[in-house]
Amino acid sequence: MDVPEQQNQVCNKVCSLQLTYKGLTEVPEYLLTDESYKALNLIYLGRNLISKLPENLGNLSALTGLFVNHNKLQFLPEAIGCLKNLDTLNFTGNELTSLPAAIGNLLKLQKLQMCNNKLSRLPTCIGKLSELRSLEVANNNLITIPVELSHCENLLTLNLDNNRLTFLPRQLRNLVNLTEFSAVANNLYVLPQDIGSKDTLHTLYVDKNERLYTLPSTVLGKEIGFYRCGCEPLSTEILEHFPYVKIQHTLTEKLPILLPPDIQHVCNMEQCVLPLSELAMRKVSTSLPTSDIIDSIPYNLSATLSCPLAKCEMCQDNIFLSGFPIVYKDYVKSAYILGMCCSLQCTKKCFHGTDNGLPVVYPRSEDLSLALVLVQ
Ligand SMILES: [Zn+2]
Repeated sequence: MDVPEQQNQVCNKVCSLQLTYKGLTEVPEYLLTDESYKALNLIYLGRNLISKLPENLGNLSALTGLFVNHNKLQFLPEAIGCLKNLDTLNFTGNELTSLPAAIGNLLKLQKLQMCNNKLSRLPTCIGKLSELRSLEVANNNLITIPVELSHCENLLTLNLDNNRLTFLPRQLRNLVNLTEFSAVANNLYVLPQDIGSKDTLHTLYVDKNERLYTLPSTVLGKEIGFYRCGCEPLSTEILEHFPYVKIQHTLTEKLPILLPPDIQHVCNMEQCVLPLSELAMRKVSTSLPTSDIIDSIPYNLSATLSCPLAKCEMCQDNIFLSGFPIVYKDYVKSAYILGMCCSLQCTKKCFHGTDNGLPVVYPRSEDLSLALVLVQ
C-alpha cells in the first residue's frame, strides 16, 4: 500500500495521525512496519470499516491514545495488551461481544470507552486498571458487573446506561473517588445500601429502572435521577425469587419492598436477639486489629468483613448479614427510601428521632417473617 500524505504530518516528535472517514477496511500495513511510526502517540481510526486489528499491533508501542470508534470490530487481539503506554482507548460503536484478558495489562489506562457494543460481561482483569478514571460501557448487553471493578479506586465516572443489569455489587462502595455514577435504563430492582456512603459521589442517575421502588438512604442529599422508576408492578414471579418485606404505609397502601440480595436474614420486629452469625461478624470486625489477620481468614468471611452490607441508620455500626429494614417516604421525589437499623433498640430510636424530616414506615412483623422464610 502506498504511504499516504498523512505521513507528512508525522514530525520528529511524532504526535498524532488522523485517519478518520477514510473507508479503511483494515489498519494500514505501513503503520506497523515503517519505523517512522514507531514513536506515534495518537492514532485516530474512527468512522472506517475496520473489522479486525492486526496481531502485530504491539509495534506501535509508544501509543498513548488509540481511537477505533465506529468501525466493525467483533473482537480485539491479545496484542492490545502490548500497548502498555495507552491512557485512552476508544472502541465506541463497534460489535464487540467480549474483551480479551490482556486488557488488564494496560496499567496506565485512564479512559476506556466501550459504549454501543454487544458486551455481555466485563473481564475480571478490569480490576487491574488502577489508573482508570473513566469507564463508559453504556448501550451494551451487560448482565453483571464484576466485583473486581471495585479495585479501580481512582475511578471518577462510571456509565452503565442501557444495559441489562439486575443488581450491582455492593463492593462498589470501595470506589472512594467516584463522583458520577449512571445506570439509567437497566433492570435494577435494588441498589446497594452503601452506594452513596462516600461524600465524593455527588451524582447518581438510575432513571428508567422500572422495578426500582426504593433508594438507599445513603443517597439522600445527592443529585439523583429517579425518573420513571417503580412504574412496573412487581410480579409474584419476581417476589418469589428475592427477599422482600411488605410495608403498610396507610390502611390502604401495601407495598412490597425488595431488599438487597446480600441480606441473608431479616430480623423480626418482635425478635430482640440478633442471629449468632450477625453477632459473630460484628465481634470479629471490631476485634481484628490488622489487615494481616483479615488476609489469613477465609475469603468469603474477609470479603464480607471488608464490605459490610450497610451502616446502622441510628448508631452507625456496621451491619453484615441481618438488618431491621426501615422505610422513609419522600413525597417530594415520590420515592421510598430504604434504610437499615442494627437492632430493635436502634430501630425504635430511629423512629423517635428522624432528623431528615421524612416519615418512617415500618414493615409489619408478619411480613418480616415472610421475608425470613423466603431467603432460607
Ligand atoms: Zn444501631
